[in-house]
Amino acid sequence: MSQKDRNLAVKVTEKELTLQCEWADCEDVFNSMTAITEHLNTHLTQYFNQIGDQSLTGQEGHQCQWRECSTQVEGEPTCFLRHVYFHLFHIKIKCVGKLLLEKTGRQQCLFDTQSRNMLPELPESFLCGWEECHVRFENADLYYRHVESHTDCFPSGNSVKGGCKCAWQGCTTVTKSRHKLKDHVKSHTQEKVVACHTCGALFASRTKFFDHLTRQAGYTTATNDRNSMKLYGKLHYQEEMCISSAGSGRMIFHRVMAL
Ligand SMILES: [Zn+2]
Ligand SMILES: [Zn+2]
Ligand SMILES: [Zn+2]
Ligand SMILES: [Zn+2]
Ligand SMILES: [Zn+2]
Repeated sequence: MSQKDRNLAVKVTEKELTLQCEWADCEDVFNSMTAITEHLNTHLTQYFNQIGDQSLTGQEGHQCQWRECSTQVEGEPTCFLRHVYFHLFHIKIKCVGKLLLEKTGRQQCLFDTQSRNMLPELPESFLCGWEECHVRFENADLYYRHVESHTDCFPSGNSVKGGCKCAWQGCTTVTKSRHKLKDHVKSHTQEKVVACHTCGALFASRTKFFDHLTRQAGYTTATNDRNSMKLYGKLHYQEEMCISSAGSGRMIFHRVMAL
């Protein structure tokens, strides 16, 4: 196995995650997505209680309290929830990115950190397209795990007899294993697998993440002029955000989630 393949194969488990809440001045740390989601719900409940009736109309939009985000999310409260929950998924995959750098002994990204908590636009609810499922989500991580769970109907092993057929509407893909099908369904959900802890950019594969680092001028040398990278970093980041927010599916609206 080459060094490059070894880097790509490094294991990162959910148990290793350190997830820090960045809502307003909160700095609480959690080690599971379930725990931090429950915690964030308490912030959200408090937020909606504070703003009172305005929460039902959403006419003024909602101000995200996540540090270094402060996005004003227009539209119904569901749009706001979708945005805020995406911060949780984002910190999870940023944590994966940080662990990958530590485990492969790589240098940090040299870009600006101002964009570290900026999220792609999420104009629509997440909709499951597996057979007749049609379940909708505002919480990205729950959505991705839900879609993944559909693949559990296939047996494990590297070569499943008859293959594992994707049942996403309109898709005819058959993979050799359940594991490969799990990867494949990410092409339907647009799930990103890793993000850059420094600049916040999201990536569909580890290869793309490592490319993001290695193509930075001066990345491998210790004596890099960080400031010269700032402008390039910003432009480059915007380009990547455009790519990562492209390809969203159908427009679906629905009523306020009970909070
Ligand atoms: Zn908190
Ligand atoms: Zn935000
Ligand atoms: Zn489903
Ligand atoms: Zn498919
Ligand atoms: Zn970066």
